[in-house]
Formats: sequence, C-alpha cells, structure tokens
Amino acid sequence: MLALERKKILHHIADLIDERAEEIALCECWDTGQALRFMSKAALRGAENFRFFADKAASARDGQQLQSPTLMNVTTRVPLGPVGIITPWNTPFMLSTWKIAPALAAGCTVVHKPAELSPLTARILCEIAHEAGLPPGVWNLVNGYGEEAGKRLSEHPDIKAIAFVGESKTGSMIMKQGADTLKRVHFELGGKNPVVVFDDADLDRALDAVIFMIYSLNGERCTSSSRLLIQDSIAEEFQARLVERINSIKVGHPLDPKTEVGPLIAQEHFDKVTSYFEIAKQDGATIAAGGEALGDEGYFVRPTLFTNATNQMRIAQEEIFGPVLTAITFKTEEEALELANDTQYGLTGFVWTNDLTRALRFTNQLEAGMIWVNSENVRHLPTPFGGVKASGIGRDGGDWSFDFYMEQKHIGFATGQHKIPRLGA
Ligand code: NAD
Repeated sequence: MLALERKKILHHIADLIDERAEEIALCECWDTGQALRFMSKAALRGAENFRFFADKAASARDGQQLQSPTLMNVTTRVPLGPVGIITPWNTPFMLSTWKIAPALAAGCTVVHKPAELSPLTARILCEIAHEAGLPPGVWNLVNGYGEEAGKRLSEHPDIKAIAFVGESKTGSMIMKQGADTLKRVHFELGGKNPVVVFDDADLDRALDAVIFMIYSLNGERCTSSSRLLIQDSIAEEFQARLVERINSIKVGHPLDPKTEVGPLIAQEHFDKVTSYFEIAKQDGATIAAGGEALGDEGYFVRPTLFTNATNQMRIAQEEIFGPVLTAITFKTEEEALELANDTQYGLTGFVWTNDLTRALRFTNQLEAGMIWVNSENVRHLPTPFGGVKASGIGRDGGDWSFDFYMEQKHIGFATGQHKIPRLGA
C-alpha cells in the first residue's frame, strides 16, 4: 500500500479511537483495575500514537545519499514483513498502540498477542482498525497464553521480528524461542528506577513527582520511580511529608472518578506485591506507610513506603510493580550515583536538583535509557524510548521505530568511471 494511503487509514484509526475513548477507558479500568482518571488519558494518547506515525509514514522510506567518487549510493528502507507484537497487562491499550502504529506506518503486517489478563481493549482496537479500512490480514489479533500463543508466534518462521513489552525473564525466553529463525527483537522490559532528590531541589515539585511516579497507575508501570534516593540532610522532613500525602491517597474502585489507586490486576500479582511487606520487615526496613492489604475483598493494597532501607535489600533490587516505594538516604553525589547505578536494570532515572552543572555531570553517568531532570516521566513521541542493561534492547519513538520495523537497503549506481577488475580476460 502506498505510504499516503497508510497515512489516511492510520489517521482514521486515531479518529475512531477518539470517538470510542470513553468505552476504551471503561474497558481498560474493568480489565486492569487502573483508575479511570488515568485511563481516559491513555485512550487519547493511543490515538496520538497513531497520528504521530501516520504523519511519519510518508517519510519512512527516506534514506540517505552517501556519495563516493564513482558511485551514487542510495540507502532506502523497506518494510520488514510480518511482525509479532506481544504486550503486557499494564496499560495494555496505550502500549499496544505504541507498537502497532509504527509497525503499520512502516508498512508491516502485524500479529498482536495481548496479555491474557487484560485482552479487552486489544479487541476494540482491532475492530476500529478494520472499520477504518485496513485490509483483512494486515492486523491480526491472537489471544492466548504466553507459553502457547506467545511462544508459537516468536518461533514462527514467517514472523520477521518480535516487539515485546514485559518482564526481563520473558524477554530472555523469547530470545531463545526466536533464535532458530534468527528473529529481530525489540524488548521493553522491567525497571527499578531511581528518583534522586538533592537538598537544593524544589522540594514541593519533587514531592508531587515522586508520589505521582510510583502511586499512579497502581505502581504497575515500567517507568515508575520505585527507588527514592534522598539526601540525608533533607530525608527526615521529606519522608514525613511523603507519609502524610501517601496516607491520603484515595484507594478505591477504578471507575470512581475520585480513585487515585485501584486494585492490583490479579491474585497472583497481589500475592507477589504483599509478600514484600514481610520481606521488608525481615530485611530490617521500616514500613513508614501502608504495608498491608486494604479490606478483605479485591486486590487492594495500601500505598506503601519503606524507609531505613539499603540498596542491597530485595525491596531495593527487585521490581515489585505495585504502589510501593523504597527510600534510601545518601550523603554525597558520588554515593547517590553509585546507588542509582547499582541495579540490574536501567530503564528510567529522575534527578531533582537546581544545580545545572551537577545535573549534567550526574545524568551523563547515570545508567538509564531515559532520564528526566526536575520532571516526572513526560513522553515526547519523537524521542527514543527504551532501556539499557536488563531493561531492554532497542528504541521506540520517532525514526528509531522505523529502524526496527524496516530493513535498510543499499543500492549503488555506478557512474561508469571506476575500473572493474577483469578476471580471465
Ligand atoms: P510478562 O513478561 O509476564 O508477559 C508479557 C507478555 O508476554 C504477555 O502477553 C504474555 O502472555 C507473554 N508471554 C509470556 N511468556 C511468553 C513466552 N514464553 N513467549 C512469548 N510470550 C510470552 O509481563 P507482564 O507481567 O504482563 O507485565 C509486567 C512487566 O512488563 C513488568 O516487568 C514491567 O516492567 C514490564 N513492562 C515494561 C515496559 C517498558 O517499556 N520497558 C512497559 C510496560 C511493562
């Protein structure tokens, strides 16, 4: 299909998402337990992902002219072919659009396998795509378990690449499953992201951001700042203010507009998150807020803060993936950097300081794919999204998405001036 036609259909998909945004948001809350106030934005962001890549579709094939004395070298990009997209249960709608939009803009066909725990909005999205005029067979939805459907997809010889969002250990499995067919992979994996607050920071804004980045979306968020590294001179006061705010976070039904934190996704995940309350105590940390389930029904947990923690504790090293924050104090910038980098992960990092030189120095050495200074995670679509270390392979966003979903192709046109070696002449 011509890029301009793809562009038209992708815009149409975006418009139809907008029309059904309320329905999508309701389904997403119902499916995941994440609060309506955040999910309504997720639907609109999903539409934006389609618009952004729709506008880029026409230039996806643009390559470079790399001149040499005797050849006119042209580099173009062609669609990779059918790609598999495997997505997790957290913010499933937004994350699916984030993968599918660039794949379609690039000219690939897609087989999408959403997470078994939250498949509802993937179906709506598929309906929208067909209503928008996407030809049959271009966008395919396969529901199923990871070990069956996901495994088959990543092993399938016709699938050229797997774009995967999920746990680091699943990524490693997919890599093995795809090895026989030499799959190209793009992985967005877990994180144990630090938010570093220095004593010269704007502490009111830092407080808002720290709370938002771990308790919104139930803490079930890959980019969440789940490790607070706080300078010891301000730790006591900052932690006291944190506790006060955490204790007034509204936990409740995800469809209640007042709700800020909803129930966790499922029993297994609830068991995992709550098990860390005991682990924290055994390791000698203090439970400064929360640390228990809320009520006897549903998978509600109280937003939790662990203090007096060290970076060696499991609560500081393992991705809990719930509304649970671990606070660790530091004295010097060097110590903060060491603590921040002392993890297997490297997805995001957040630095709060008003000292520009320090911000430059610190971010330069911080091991993370995405870093924000004096800000929460604000996604800007043209910028690269992804992690280092166990947090991922490859980047999404802007032109980086096309590097993944397309094959680079070189064509050299000789100007007839160079000497061709004459064998057997
Ligand atoms: P998961 O790895 O358990 O599952 C993700 C998907 O992989 C699901 O669709 C699942 O069915 C499938 N899957 C499972 N086993 C498979 C296999 N053997 N072969 C192929 N597919 C398989 O992850 P989850 O629990 O659904 O999601 C939470 C995780 O996702 C967290 O670790 C979180 O940090 C990560 N995440 C990362 C990002 C990011 O951008 N880095 C974004 C969101 C979530």
